[in-house]
Amino acid sequence: RADVPDLDARAVALDRAHVFHSWSAQAHVAPFVVAGGRGSTVWDHAGHTYLDFSSQLVNTNIGHQHPRVVEAIRAQAAQLTTVAPSTAHLVRGQAAEAVLGHAPDRFTKVFFTNGGADANENAIRLARLHTGRPKVVSHYRSYHGNTGAAVVATGDWRRVPNEYATGHVHVFGPYLYRSEFWASTPQEECERALRHLERVVQCEGPESIAAILLETVPGTAGVLVPPPGYLAGVREVADRYGIVLILDEVMAGFGRTGAWFAFDRHDVVPDLVTFAKGVNSGYVPAGGVLISDEIAAGFDDRVFPGGLTYSGHPLAMAAVVATLGAMADEGVVENAEAVGREVLGPGLAAIAARQPLVGEVRGTGVFWAVELVADRATRAPVPASVVAAVKAACLARGLLPFVADNRVHVVPPCVVTPDEARQGLAVLDEALTEVTAGL
Ligand code: PLP
Repeated sequence: RADVPDLDARAVALDRAHVFHSWSAQAHVAPFVVAGGRGSTVWDHAGHTYLDFSSQLVNTNIGHQHPRVVEAIRAQAAQLTTVAPSTAHLVRGQAAEAVLGHAPDRFTKVFFTNGGADANENAIRLARLHTGRPKVVSHYRSYHGNTGAAVVATGDWRRVPNEYATGHVHVFGPYLYRSEFWASTPQEECERALRHLERVVQCEGPESIAAILLETVPGTAGVLVPPPGYLAGVREVADRYGIVLILDEVMAGFGRTGAWFAFDRHDVVPDLVTFAKGVNSGYVPAGGVLISDEIAAGFDDRVFPGGLTYSGHPLAMAAVVATLGAMADEGVVENAEAVGREVLGPGLAAIAARQPLVGEVRGTGVFWAVELVADRATRAPVPASVVAAVKAACLARGLLPFVADNRVHVVPPCVVTPDEARQGLAVLDEALTEVTAGL
């Protein structure tokens, strides 16, 4: 209709004129307009709908616009929109209690942050202060956030132009499909990755290492579910040398893997846990660090030299309490587990079997990666143009995918229904067929 302003075009024009985007060459940004959403669906101003298999940045675990969370934010806004972090605020305490309610008993305190990067930043600070040691060991295939230490703890390309923090050491983690260890079984990969880690610790000098910081399941790096025994082995290495183990659950936590915390399935209890994203689905920015009793006790009489104006912001905390309450009451984590086991796992395996572009699929819960290869024998990654073509073919059919490097990540909200999951996979399958035919 001519009398309806083209809000989609206006959104794109304003964005292109004034918004400076993350991780992008600004002249090459092609923004996707999202005007609204509900559950696993988003739409633009003109009403084109898309099944959201990205969960935005893998954060809307409870889906878009969950009414209970929206209402909690509305109610908190009416009561008190902001408060200093030094105050005792009921909702902040309730949020801490709610998060800790899903964690092992050894965690009794939460330090709230604005997101995942500053959660890792503060976890690293806690580990350094606790041990009196400077270095942090993390994986090359990892992303830990975009602040001083977090981006240098990150192993992927984003570290390289930002390498100003000191004391960071990287190791290769297990990734059997592209093994750095010439391994041919998960067990070999696990044993060799652990030996590599321990040798690096020894060569760096264990007395200089404060923390091993790992994503429980590396996410952006390709949903690299660790082989059985790897994280338990890392725990042993950490214990042997008095090193703090920090697990980054920013992407993997709060239902994504089909468990509350991804480490629940790996026989390991870390010393510090970082979280953000799914804790309140990003409705209001929030993150934090779960702190073990032992580490927290070290700051009973010693000042913790860190803080944030918005630590435990009331709107974010209200969203945490409502999100975790709704997830528990509605069986959202159980849904993620079941959809992964019954629909996404078998469905993606079937796609891998018939689509020559697919080298491997791997994942758990609603956390999957489809690795696209130019040649199944050499496992050479497809060029970026092929990934872009798959993304475009998905969008044209109403599916919003998440792509990274040579992969499509299948990461819908934890509330995705089995039918929506099947529908999304059917679109991905068609998109792969179309792109393969055009090669
Ligand atoms: N850690 C992991 C595992 C992440 O995936 C991310 C973001 O994608 C972060 C940390 C950083 O979180 P934020 O972007 O909220 O700072």
